[in-house]
Amino acid sequence: MKTETGFPEKIWGARERASYIKELSETEYDVLIIGGGMTGGGILRALGLRGIRAALIEKEDFAFGTSSKSTRLAHGGVRYILHGAFRLVSEETHERDWMRRAFPNMVRPIPIVMANYSTVESVFMGGFLRLYDLLSGWGNYRSYRHLTKEDIGELEPNIKIPGLHSGSLLYECIINDARLTCEIVKEGVLLGGTAVNYVKAKNILKKDGRCIGVEAQDVLSGNSLNIKAKSVISAAGPWTDDLMPKERNPVIRPAKGVHIVVKRESIGNMAGLYTKSPEDGRSCFVLAHGDYTYIGTTDTDYKGDLDECYTEREEYEYFKGIVDHTFPEGNFEEKDVIGTYAGTRPLVREEGVDEDKTSREERFEEVSPGFFMIAGGKLTIFRTMAEKLLVYMAERGGVPLKSYNRDTSRSRFIMSMTKEEWDDAVRETGSGLDERTLTHLFENYGKGGLEIIDSVKREPSLGEAITAGQPNIKAELQYSLKYEMVTRLKDFLMRRSNLSLYERDRHESLGRAVAAEMANFLGWDERRVDDEVKEYVRVAEKNRFFLNKK
Ligand SMILES: Cc1cc2nc3c(=O)[nH]c(=O)nc-3n(C[C@H](O)[C@H](O)[C@H](O)COP(=O)(O)OP(=O)(O)OC[C@H]3O[C@@H](n4cnc5c(N)ncnc54)[C@H](O)[C@@H]3O)c2cc1C
Repeated sequence: MKTETGFPEKIWGARERASYIKELSETEYDVLIIGGGMTGGGILRALGLRGIRAALIEKEDFAFGTSSKSTRLAHGGVRYILHGAFRLVSEETHERDWMRRAFPNMVRPIPIVMANYSTVESVFMGGFLRLYDLLSGWGNYRSYRHLTKEDIGELEPNIKIPGLHSGSLLYECIINDARLTCEIVKEGVLLGGTAVNYVKAKNILKKDGRCIGVEAQDVLSGNSLNIKAKSVISAAGPWTDDLMPKERNPVIRPAKGVHIVVKRESIGNMAGLYTKSPEDGRSCFVLAHGDYTYIGTTDTDYKGDLDECYTEREEYEYFKGIVDHTFPEGNFEEKDVIGTYAGTRPLVREEGVDEDKTSREERFEEVSPGFFMIAGGKLTIFRTMAEKLLVYMAERGGVPLKSYNRDTSRSRFIMSMTKEEWDDAVRETGSGLDERTLTHLFENYGKGGLEIIDSVKREPSLGEAITAGQPNIKAELQYSLKYEMVTRLKDFLMRRSNLSLYERDRHESLGRAVAAEMANFLGWDERRVDDEVKEYVRVAEKNRFFLNKK
């Protein structure tokens, strides 16, 4: 079914939650996926494209885990060349370029300047980046270019790194990880899959030694349910070991990675920069996302609570060192940090190898008959990870496929639009919205943005800003409630939108305002509104907790 704007309408919202839970407990699926990150979402989409009946459950919200804590790049993993991981780099560059073509509104090229400190380094980097171009099959958005100090001054006038010799220019692609994950899960749903958040897998159910589904819990009601499936896949990221047989050694080595977000004007970078920490020489990205700059990341072993991973003061100090070194005239201060986020990489354990050098490749296996596990990998290669897993499963009778074509999932995304297509469509329909809001809708929603504009035309008050100074409008919340399974207040503020990150001083008031709108749609009473605001403020404040701890 399609709406007037050609939007493939399929209601996917928390208002229908009871019917989804009923479906989960009454259906026998071909495949059940545990985990609503990029990996699980990619598998749901790949199965949907082949008409295989699949369901996905997520214990929190889609992209709650690592998939909303990344550096937000679809990248070729240039530094893995140093580790000799040529196959991975080739795969990542090819997949990044496919994503750029398949989802151009969400996966957009960004120029990145890399600093060189000597002639030797400059020559070495030249050869290294030519190899990078080669491994990409010359598909990089633009080939590598050498930069003199003067070129760097023109591109990034505020970079004043002591001892800077020259630079290199390469292109990667900027993404919004949580929104992209949501779009991929949504596409899986549009293709016939079922995906429900706040449903946790507790145990693998077996009959005669073979997996027949999972015992799960609806986290919101506390009710238990059994979900039947011919095969089950764990795509639980850093939580993978929770579902593994008790007797086996841990599969995952969680490695913590932190980012800080600052107003771009506070350091004045123009686009992307790949710089080094003066403390330990580790590489660090400084990336412009509109008015904001994301700086990261770190890579340290993590042994704490995976559900509650936040930034520590010493991590902030580490980034301050990098910013002061790279932009010494910027007078960067703590008050310039508007937010932080921390996550854990689901690296597959390799004994005796440093966290920085642990392989980024995915691993999958049949843990027991009918129960499969996939872990590791990157956001950028979500599609090939799903493809490889399905071949592996098909060979073991884990998925009903007669023949196999790995290109099936190379199709363009349902919601994707090029800028030309968008401009034509907006010109034709007219919008009445300002340029900044239109760009925001294009980049974050693609075809969904046209549906949002259409709803503003029907009800002009929906064109009002959710909060002053941000491009997000009220129609977006209505759209996400109806088509993106926003179940809790924090789902919208922290993952469907970036508002939580960008509005650090207004968590309580913003939370109250958005909760009131959600209450109208979802029928929440006052108590539920209070609970939602309390939980949202608790988590949002923790993302800048270090600021209060001296
Ligand atoms: C700091 C950092 C920066 C990164 N930067 C990049 C980058 O720029 N580009 C890139 O390509 N990659 C990047 N990565 C890697 C990338 O983010 C991860 O590889 C990817 O997000 C992993 O996705 P996933 O779905 O496997 O795991 P997750 O996103 O963690 O998803 C697993 C999900 O499973 C759910 N779950 C767990 N247990 C259960 C259960 N029992 N029942 C139901 N649900 C369950 C969790 O709640 C979680 O949402 C980065 C990683 C980190 C940490």
